[in-house]
Amino acid sequence: MKHRGMKSLALALLLLSAPTIFAQNKDAMVSSIVQEANANSQLEKYAFELIDMIGPRLVGSPQMQQAHDWVVKNYNALGAQARNEPYGEWRSWERGTSQVTMTYPRIKSLEGTQLAFSPMTKEKGIEAEVVAMPLFSSQSDFQSWLKTIKGKIVLIGMNPLSGRSDANWKESASPKGYEKYQTLKSDQLKKWEGSMSYTGSTRRTLPLALENAGAVGVIDSYWTELPGITRIFDAKSKQIPVFNVGLEDYGLLYRMAEHGVKPRVSLHGNSKELGTSKTYNSIAEIKGKEKPDEYVVLSAHLDSWDGASGATDNATGVITMMEAVRILRKVYPENKRTILVGNWGSEEQGLNGSSAFVEDHPEIAKNIQVVWNQDNGTGRIVRIGGSGFEKSYEYISRWVQYLPEEFRNEIQTSFPGMPGTGGSDHSSFVQKGIPAFGLSSTSWDYGTVTWHTNRDTYDKIVFDEVKQNAIIVAILTYLACEEPTLVSREKIILPIDKDGKQTVWPTNLQSKRTSGN
Ligand SMILES: [Zn+2]
Repeated sequence: MKHRGMKSLALALLLLSAPTIFAQNKDAMVSSIVQEANANSQLEKYAFELIDMIGPRLVGSPQMQQAHDWVVKNYNALGAQARNEPYGEWRSWERGTSQVTMTYPRIKSLEGTQLAFSPMTKEKGIEAEVVAMPLFSSQSDFQSWLKTIKGKIVLIGMNPLSGRSDANWKESASPKGYEKYQTLKSDQLKKWEGSMSYTGSTRRTLPLALENAGAVGVIDSYWTELPGITRIFDAKSKQIPVFNVGLEDYGLLYRMAEHGVKPRVSLHGNSKELGTSKTYNSIAEIKGKEKPDEYVVLSAHLDSWDGASGATDNATGVITMMEAVRILRKVYPENKRTILVGNWGSEEQGLNGSSAFVEDHPEIAKNIQVVWNQDNGTGRIVRIGGSGFEKSYEYISRWVQYLPEEFRNEIQTSFPGMPGTGGSDHSSFVQKGIPAFGLSSTSWDYGTVTWHTNRDTYDKIVFDEVKQNAIIVAILTYLACEEPTLVSREKIILPIDKDGKQTVWPTNLQSKRTSGN
């Protein structure tokens, strides 16, 4: 009896000690990651070089190429093997200076800029009377108005009732005044949307219809409901320039046009057309020492819109991944699986770079452990969803337990979650059945202040939170590399939709490999 008891005690100790040592190793690694992140952070250096020096990264632009080269140079310096991998081509357009000046009834410089891909103006610019697009009550109404805009610059955005934020109204107006404002605001929007439906265009395609009708320029305004902040996308016109003007100056022109003053504006934009250029993904790999053919993928799009410098969309994602790799190179050089970082091109035109990568690399796609994608601003990661993978709760919950307590306590997980139909690059992987997860951040007013706006700049970055994210990504990547086997790819059975039909796993994403220009 005694003898047998000793034996089973020894066996029990043995069984206990293996995972305990493993856990201790993991805890030690987690401490080393945190220590390295705090002692030697390179985030501010990376941010300055990418955001301030290179600047915005519009698909096809020379700055995008510079960004690709910068990524490759930095990853090579970290001991990774990095390359720019071509997958298509795009119209190459380079932003120049933009000037918008009201020339009548008085001179005033206006806050405005050429939209991306807008045709340039003539060398001296164009100068013309500004007219405001009225509300239409039918298609024929719109068609007859089109006959009046020849030679004019047309204002095509809605001019909001107030340039104050909603929060400001709520705080300072009387309850009755606030309620009245809300009613008027939603009435105005409804009328505007009704009128737009008669044009048969969206705000992005309307300039082409106006160009065909003889307008010489278009001014849009796309207010985010915060003073001074406007969204800046691209232009679809072929000949005439399209400019964005901030709400405050836009309202000035709009009121003058409405009052019959016939204001005049000079538009000057000297962008360059550079033909077409190749589009790339910048890929960095650190080969796995035990399982080189299995991959843990770090994902962030490198491109941006160019109304500002794409700081939180998505330079922060790019530098988070770079810093995570820098840390891991230092404290975890013996990575078991291959760590692959995808710095995607052309996310903003429809997740094109990441979709192309998945399409072009079936051999990698089938052996991906997990994908960690970050693309919603500078905030600390607080939400991880299961993307519709049945067993995601099992391994993600287990890995999250290793995060430093104050990080872990804030993270909300939602399992099994739903597979994405778009939004950001993890969807390109999820659609092919690869466990890929968006690491979602606290807002920091991402939607109203920085997302595709003229204010997405270096100063909006909260570096302590980005550092926290680099630590989280480094730890989750380490654990995914160490996991004994590849995790389950089992999908959930999707729900029945409201029409009684079985929802199917999304497959809508396909890489667009040319701009078609
Ligand atoms: Zn983005």
